[in-house]
Amino acid sequence: MKALHFHCEEGRGQPTLASICDICRQAGLSARDFENDPVQLFAQTLNMRYAGKLIEQNNEQETYHAASVVQESEFKRQLENLIVNYDTNELVQRQVARKTLNEVLWSILTGKIKPTLTGDYKVDFAAVGLRIEYDLNNLDFIAREIIRRQYNHRCQYCGRRGNSVDHKNPVSLSDDNSLENLTLACQECNGIKGNMPYYFFVHLNNQIQGVNRQLVDYENLINSLEQSFRARHNQLIARTHLKNVIDDPELRHLRKQNKELQAAIDSVNSDYLELRNSRRKYFSSQWKMHRMVEQDTII
Ligand SMILES: [Zn+2]
Ligand SMILES: [Zn+2]
Repeated sequence: MKALHFHCEEGRGQPTLASICDICRQAGLSARDFENDPVQLFAQTLNMRYAGKLIEQNNEQETYHAASVVQESEFKRQLENLIVNYDTNELVQRQVARKTLNEVLWSILTGKIKPTLTGDYKVDFAAVGLRIEYDLNNLDFIAREIIRRQYNHRCQYCGRRGNSVDHKNPVSLSDDNSLENLTLACQECNGIKGNMPYYFFVHLNNQIQGVNRQLVDYENLINSLEQSFRARHNQLIARTHLKNVIDDPELRHLRKQNKELQAAIDSVNSDYLELRNSRRKYFSSQWKMHRMVEQDTII
């Protein structure tokens, strides 16, 4: 309960405590459906608002929030430490969304990842898999953000989502850092392009616009499937976390649906991977041929 997890934004003006943690709320549960008398009492004592189901006398079916039973342990303390560090560090918040942090916390609480925490926040953020840049050159950061927004976070070569700022003419060929020489690419195109001259890569890429459109379709399909998978998955872990029972008809149903969804995602993903691989091969063989021809003309 000491954790900031019970704070919520509901009812601006007066600080509010919710009956469920913010991870459960993010997973799509409503605080109104759950009781939590320790939190309710706590809110009353501190003159805060309480968002949650009120405790009813003689109610046999109590819906407690499991996480309200906080076990004191060194590990819990270090987890809280991590949350506090997040809440007080703007540089970290700028790079990692609260939502992402919650997902990481879930993975830890459900035992999916078992990081060793040290109390040093830089080490600990890395240990839980959050990549944070602490020595941001402010100008670089802003220039990169401008380019990402200018191109709407889309790869200018294939049309999929992308956030890699790309030098049209590779740094190995010119040292041009001007905005005209910068564009946005996805990691894949960025990697494929490598040291190819811009004109040559664009020339090859223009021949396969149909393939690129297919890639975009695949990406959209996979994203929407994964989104609904995640929504169900979040519901599932939140409900398991609340009920403290694994074998429950409702949970079993959700689990079955998710298994089917996962199979669909896997199958689409494997087709997608095949297309990406053949596109990659197309670029590399054309590039190889191009260089062979160039060498011949030199000789
Ligand atoms: Zn919870
Ligand atoms: Zn791309």
